[in-house]
Amino acid sequence: MTEDNRKGKASDRRFATKLLHFGAEIDETTGASSVPIFQASTFHHHDIFSPPEYDYSRSGNPTRQALENYIALLEGGSRGFAFASGMAAISTAFLLLSAGEHVIVTEDVYGGTYRLLTSILDRLGIESTFVDMTNFEAVKAALKPNTKAVFMETPSNPTLKITNIAETTSWAKDHGLLTMLDNTFMTPYHQRPIEHGVDIVLHSATKFLSGHSDVLAGLAVTADESLGKRLKQLQNGLGSVLSAQESWLLMRGMKTLQARMEHSERSARRLAEWLSNHEDVTNVFYPGLDGHSGRTIHEKQSLGYGAVVSFDVGSGERAKSLLSKVRLPLVAVSLGAVESILSYPAMMSHAAMPKEVRHARGITDGLVRYSVGLEDIEDLLEDLDQALRG
Ligand SMILES: *Cc1c(COP(=O)(O)O)cnc(C)c1O
Repeated sequence: MTEDNRKGKASDRRFATKLLHFGAEIDETTGASSVPIFQASTFHHHDIFSPPEYDYSRSGNPTRQALENYIALLEGGSRGFAFASGMAAISTAFLLLSAGEHVIVTEDVYGGTYRLLTSILDRLGIESTFVDMTNFEAVKAALKPNTKAVFMETPSNPTLKITNIAETTSWAKDHGLLTMLDNTFMTPYHQRPIEHGVDIVLHSATKFLSGHSDVLAGLAVTADESLGKRLKQLQNGLGSVLSAQESWLLMRGMKTLQARMEHSERSARRLAEWLSNHEDVTNVFYPGLDGHSGRTIHEKQSLGYGAVVSFDVGSGERAKSLLSKVRLPLVAVSLGAVESILSYPAMMSHAAMPKEVRHARGITDGLVRYSVGLEDIEDLLEDLDQALRG
């Protein structure tokens, strides 16, 4: 069998197979069972008249390239890009816009994206309007003559509100707007936005994709080649690329994405049901719950509900008490790891947001966010029960 036959066409295979057989899983030169880490900043020109494929690692590195092709395959896009963090990916994508242009953004977007738009990009003349994207009329009403892009995050963070992706992208296309979507919470295992018309998919790969709370990374995938060329120019020009070591570590984590997501999602569904029946919990946010207002739309555009459940324990005092009494989850910023992580948005991810804005977005003082890991769910429930009652 030749190498080509052995590899076949990765894009024709099912998701779980793509995770293991993405094209670079066997090193061509040595047959090594993982992508080599090309720890080199520069590359020798064997023939000065024909420049090598790789010449300098900011512009291109074979280990990073393997990761970039890998995420493009998983998202069903044309080109992938790896960055030093999720915010590096997001800020690079926003720099496709120019001074004087305007972007419409999901109201309860990730805190770092909110900070980027309201304290850095605004200074460079890039304007933004935050809208509740569960209300399509509000999205349409935000259109201005200088609007150039729509930035979605669905489910949103931390209240897990749902945006109708296809409805938004088809309207955006009619108005010549670029569409971007932060797919961190769902990952391509659960949601592939390019299939619903999105132009650029973004990830904090720090979360579920790497999955082990040990890598900081960001990824972007463009639907088409011309947008890919423009993003490549920005990635090379701005220089916030992911190192070869981190690219390798991220690929190592991504191979188990489906196995991890399946386990965590099953547990998250159980946790959400359990919390809904708990007398010490006033409100539960999870798109898989019957009462969730965005459930039907979410089910049309996603293959699962994810592993993040937010819930309200009624007051800041009770939230702080819960955080001090849990024994299993890491009490920390972040999510999407093998171990469960409990966060307190009001004092962690959304601490920089003015209190009125935070409350208006449903991020109350009693709201906590639980990212379900791979522990036995019975142990997690027993632990939460003692902490809630304590
Ligand atoms: C964490 C996160 C980011 C930022 O990613 P970093 O890797 O921390 O820079 C962006 N969007 C979402 C939804 C996140 O959870």
